[in-house]
Amino acid sequence: MKTIANILLIYTGGTIGMIKDFETGALKAFNFDELLQNIPELKLLDHHIDTISFDRPIDSSNMRPDFWLQIAEIIEGKYDEYDGFVILHGSDTMSYSAAALSFMFENLSKPIIFTGSQLPIGDLRTDAKENLITSIQIAGLQKHGRPVITEVGLYFEYKLYRGNRTTKVNAEHFQAFASPNYVPLVESGVHLAVNEVALWKPNRRRKTKLHRGLDDQVALIKIFPGINRSLLEHILSKEDLKGVILETYGSGNAPTEEWFVDLLKKTISRGVIIVNVTQCIGGSVAMGQYETSTQLKKIGVVTGKDITTEAALAKMMYLLAQDLSPKVFKTIFETSLRGEMS
Ligand code: ASP
Repeated sequence: MKTIANILLIYTGGTIGMIKDFETGALKAFNFDELLQNIPELKLLDHHIDTISFDRPIDSSNMRPDFWLQIAEIIEGKYDEYDGFVILHGSDTMSYSAAALSFMFENLSKPIIFTGSQLPIGDLRTDAKENLITSIQIAGLQKHGRPVITEVGLYFEYKLYRGNRTTKVNAEHFQAFASPNYVPLVESGVHLAVNEVALWKPNRRRKTKLHRGLDDQVALIKIFPGINRSLLEHILSKEDLKGVILETYGSGNAPTEEWFVDLLKKTISRGVIIVNVTQCIGGSVAMGQYETSTQLKKIGVVTGKDITTEAALAKMMYLLAQDLSPKVFKTIFETSLRGEMS
């Protein structure tokens, strides 16, 4: 017997629901009801689906932490009424949003599935229908009366990934996302193949809790050959700066020049947290493996291990809002909280 699940579909915007502006030819967000009319297939699904939309749907390039809170509060307010949540979101910042929601919800016991598309739902060759329909089916998966997925996922082009492991890798291909350091949770073929061992296991005795605080006093800095000293000094001297995600080379390597290391050291001694993540799409930071990262380790740079830049940024905003001492921050950041690092 099939289980009928109650699913809440939350529309935030993105290409999936866009139409072409007659005058400019640019894609812009449109009305959610029109979007639903383009998917009569939704009525054929076994699940009961309710929908809710941002008053003003956005292109996800306009995503901000207060929108993350808006999405999270919709879910929190309806948490007991629904078995799963599907969020329609633009692909540009979907990985950031999925990561943020994963940290904001502690002890999640139901699925929150992000999806979107590369082509609008009204386009003949759209990828939107498969992405949306399968996301709803995955959100409705149950075993022994309980949701199978109990984490924040991202579904795109036949694969469900752990949301906080993803990154957008292609602006053209339907396969727009990758999860370089973690296996897919579900693969969609003739059947939905669930990778049970890879799923996040909830602690059912603990209540689901929403953390509302996110601190945006952060900077994301990608180092490059020739990085300018005065520019870096300028950014790092910002008075209310609290945290920096430093995108380094390879396994966490950076210039060994004295001015560079001294500047980071001075910044850390002011209480600013610096986290080292790699610019590489896959693999991990391993400070101390090369001479070019040994200094970073010594001066107290936090290792991001194999976390994505998107998840590192979200995790930093989440932890900074908790007013931890730098020492405790380092310990917690270097620990996997929601399966975001190995
Ligand atoms: N610019 C769009 C957005 O992120 C792209 C997409 O939806 O795929 O909202």
